[in-house]
Amino acid sequence: MKKLVLASGNPDKLLELRALLEDLPFEVVSILEIIPDWSIEETGTTLEENALLKARDVTERTGEASIADDTGLFVDVLGGAPGIYAARFCGSECSYEDNVQKLLRTMLCEINRNASFRTAAAFVSPSGEELCEMGEVQGIITEEADGDGGFGYDPVFLPDELDRTFAQCSPEEKHRISHRSRALKRLIEKLESS
Ligand code: IMP
Repeated sequence: MKKLVLASGNPDKLLELRALLEDLPFEVVSILEIIPDWSIEETGTTLEENALLKARDVTERTGEASIADDTGLFVDVLGGAPGIYAARFCGSECSYEDNVQKLLRTMLCEINRNASFRTAAAFVSPSGEELCEMGEVQGIITEEADGDGGFGYDPVFLPDELDRTFAQCSPEEKHRISHRSRALKRLIEKLESS
């Protein structure tokens, strides 16, 4: 079976990507199983650029097909921030909790709490084929964190299509509507028709 290398060093993201790709006819491995200290600076200015940058690097280094995702949280009242800089909202070495607390502080007393998660999912093959698809989910930023599932901003993101934060959902409920699953679904459809 052909290998498909996931271009991420984030264990939480790897867990979701593996679950979302389990039906593909590929042996799905993480780049960390091949290059344990792999990392890359995300120098792109869009989610698409960053997703492609990661997938290209992994395919170049491993000679295998790869998939990468890049995700941002876009909050309307903050003019789209933290956007593509969601991981570094509270500084370069900050934790998920630091970011969540900064977001809640920044939005204290804000009435308009509309936000969306967006994911760019990229595929790069050793022969140079490149595909990139977007997925999005709309919701609101809650006033308090709730739930301990998921990761990142999940405890404060209440999707319009559910009555609980992503962190209060089962993985299956999150996968049914998430930004990441929507982007990957489109990517897989493109891959299957290419
Ligand atoms: P990345 O640049 O794609 O690795 O993601 C940037 C940041 O967005 C992560 O560090 C998380 O804080 C957040 N993030 C990414 N995906 C999710 C998600 O599915 N739920 C909540 N937060 C996420």
